[in-house]
Amino acid sequence: MGLAYQNTVENIEKNIKNIWQQIYAAEQKYGRKRGSVRLLAVSKTKGVEDIEKAISAGLSDFGENYVQEALPKMGSLRPFNLTWYFIGPLQSNKTRQVTENFDWVLSVDREKVAKRLGDARPQTLGPLNVCLQVNISGEDSKSGVSIPEVMPLASRILDHPRLRLRGIMGIPAATNVIADQRLAFRQLKDVFDSMNDRGFNLDTLSMGMSGDLESAIAEGSTMVRIGSAIFGQRKK
Ligand SMILES: *Cc1c(COP(=O)(O)O)cnc(C)c1O
Repeated sequence: MGLAYQNTVENIEKNIKNIWQQIYAAEQKYGRKRGSVRLLAVSKTKGVEDIEKAISAGLSDFGENYVQEALPKMGSLRPFNLTWYFIGPLQSNKTRQVTENFDWVLSVDREKVAKRLGDARPQTLGPLNVCLQVNISGEDSKSGVSIPEVMPLASRILDHPRLRLRGIMGIPAATNVIADQRLAFRQLKDVFDSMNDRGFNLDTLSMGMSGDLESAIAEGSTMVRIGSAIFGQRKK
């Protein structure tokens, strides 16, 4: 996105300070309450040493996209008591490993997957926190539930005793055009608000990544998901 993110391990702490400054500045600029935006660090493709740097900088919420990659990292970091978010595309055959190990899943987009996550959630753990991934027009991936399908799916999740519906998540098509970023985020906020108007009682609107967090906060994000601006560019 035209930004040369610093990607050495020594810079992770500095990057995190910088992101918090951007978050606080955006909260202030757009009349958001201070502390109303949570920071989820996206650690996919990054090693345990990098994650430990982020932990020393005060972070405890981490997002991962690939179960196979995440599980060993989560295992070696268990003493830190972190909160783990699964944010990647979810295949039915991976649901058990996800629900046994993660605290949240942000990428639920169909009933079959939701039911499997709930049915396999271990009784020793609390209900799995769930966000629906919403595919607003223009999202370039095929993941996500379409807007008309959101409420029916949300109702099914409410019915499951082992799932706790927390909100929605969206990934608009990447663009540097601020007006386009904000338009896409506004659509997600509209979905979020209309669900709460219907009594869904959601507290999490997860939108905004390294290239568009200010627009997301302007439009009401409560949780930005930041990877490269913290850990440096990922290898393709
Ligand atoms: C990779 C990823 C991110 C982080 O993206 P950056 O642009 O590196 O900040 C956020 N959300 C999801 C769902 C991702 O897959």
